[in-house]
Amino acid sequence: MGMEDYRRLLADNERWVAERLGEDPDYFTRLKGTHNPSYVWIGCSDSRVPAETITGCQPGDLFVHRNVANQVVHTDLNMLTVVFYAVEELRARHIIVCGHYGCGGVKAAMSGQDFGLINRWLQNIKDCAERHQDELAALPDEEARSRRLIELNVIEQVDHLAKTSVVQRAWKQEGRPWLHGWVYDMRTGRLKELVLRTAADLPHPVHRFDLDGP
Ligand SMILES: [Zn+2]
Repeated sequence: MGMEDYRRLLADNERWVAERLGEDPDYFTRLKGTHNPSYVWIGCSDSRVPAETITGCQPGDLFVHRNVANQVVHTDLNMLTVVFYAVEELRARHIIVCGHYGCGGVKAAMSGQDFGLINRWLQNIKDCAERHQDELAALPDEEARSRRLIELNVIEQVDHLAKTSVVQRAWKQEGRPWLHGWVYDMRTGRLKELVLRTAADLPHPVHRFDLDGP
């Protein structure tokens, strides 16, 4: 394929529009009128883990944030904006953090390779590995350690969400959102639930906020 292959995307868009309008002439008018997604998706940027496709979701269903290795980093204004807007304005009921086995970001973090600027991002995963070093060291091989670190990374990001004031306030006032940690297996196409945190699962007291409200 030459450089012009990108035109395929535009042609497929035309085809997709025609299909939608064929099924429902008001499809785009209706979508434009409302933005009410029930689910927030924080996933990896990996092209093989397309949030909508693997969950059968349609436009309007998912509010999506993706980055390398599905990180919830407290200083990431991009992620925080997504979570704040989703919880405060869109009244989201579920936030799903989804990792995937074979994640290149986690593999890179497990290696000693110097990736320059990217080291800063991967350090979050290295810290996670260090916190769980005993459990990881007990596993039989690198593949098993990689899979487990991918799971532990997801669980840790879910816990990071629980440490935000925006989630704690919504928990206190409305008992939402539920925080989900999932992992996707590219070999089978299946999602697996790892963890579910609700308003009953406040983090360690040092991470709790004094919040007004009922
Ligand atoms: Zn990944």
